[in-house]
Amino acid sequence: MDEIFLQQALEFGQPYTGKGTVASYIPELSKADGRELGISVRPIDGPQLRCGYWQRRFTIQSISKVINLAMALEHFGFDAVFHKTKMEPSGASFNSMSRISDSEEIPFNPLVNSGAIAVVELLLPIGLKEMLSTVRGLCSDKDIIMDEEVFQSEWSHSARNRSLGYLLQSKGLIEGSVDDTLLLYTQLCSLSVTADSLANLGQVLANGGICPQSGRRLLKEEVVRTVLTMMLTCGMYDGSGEFAVRVGLPSKSGVGGGILSVVPGEMGIGVYGPSLDSKGNSAAGQKILEYISRTEKLHIMDRLIRHEAPAAQI
Ligand code: GLU
Repeated sequence: MDEIFLQQALEFGQPYTGKGTVASYIPELSKADGRELGISVRPIDGPQLRCGYWQRRFTIQSISKVINLAMALEHFGFDAVFHKTKMEPSGASFNSMSRISDSEEIPFNPLVNSGAIAVVELLLPIGLKEMLSTVRGLCSDKDIIMDEEVFQSEWSHSARNRSLGYLLQSKGLIEGSVDDTLLLYTQLCSLSVTADSLANLGQVLANGGICPQSGRRLLKEEVVRTVLTMMLTCGMYDGSGEFAVRVGLPSKSGVGGGILSVVPGEMGIGVYGPSLDSKGNSAAGQKILEYISRTEKLHIMDRLIRHEAPAAQI
């Protein structure tokens, strides 16, 4: 893989920017230019490859759910997290309230809003300052800050997430303050990243939790295993199944236009493309990843399936 190949992938994806629209339910996000596309690829053992708007800063939005889940698992363990949410694909939109309103139901998984908000309550004792420094470390990006405009915009348009928060509280899945939980959740969604930062995060996940450059372990191996499995099955909302067939890489999207993808054992990929499809996933970003995965045979099943051995030479 080289930067010429990434340019081809970007050109393949470009027409699909016209098939979506930028998010507008958070008004500040509607200012993004839907035609922009950027890619960054960070191999575990090679130089970073980039193309297009890889330097553009945008808010991480739901990709923060990956980091939040990892931190909750690291600090509080598997049982504490999966007492608050199941591990099942929801088949519903990212901010769906359907089904969890039934008295017995808990959120489907930690990567949809309801499950993520419940998980963020666990992170309150850690707080924004320490979470921010963790995010900077995982993304190898010391310039990540909270985008105040996007935060204010989402905070003043958060009726839906507030409803989810109170519903979770009524079920005992938020025991403390809904307001404090939503505040931290929204702040963490408002962190500004680049395609590069996402590729760096992906590379740590691809490498089992160890940063290849520093050799430091940032996440436990069993945490990475759980997080990658959740990304593979639930990371693209109600598009997760089709994305798994077409691309076959653990991935997580955000309504800011980012997609984080992981090629286990090989590389992290960050894509930016703020024009979103009806499910809230980057329209062109998905196509770029499909192109890369298919051309380079990165689909995890391609790498696991036993290919027919060449006939022995006599
Ligand atoms: N902050 C957004 C929300 O809670 C994140 C949604 C997303 O990226 O899918 O609605």
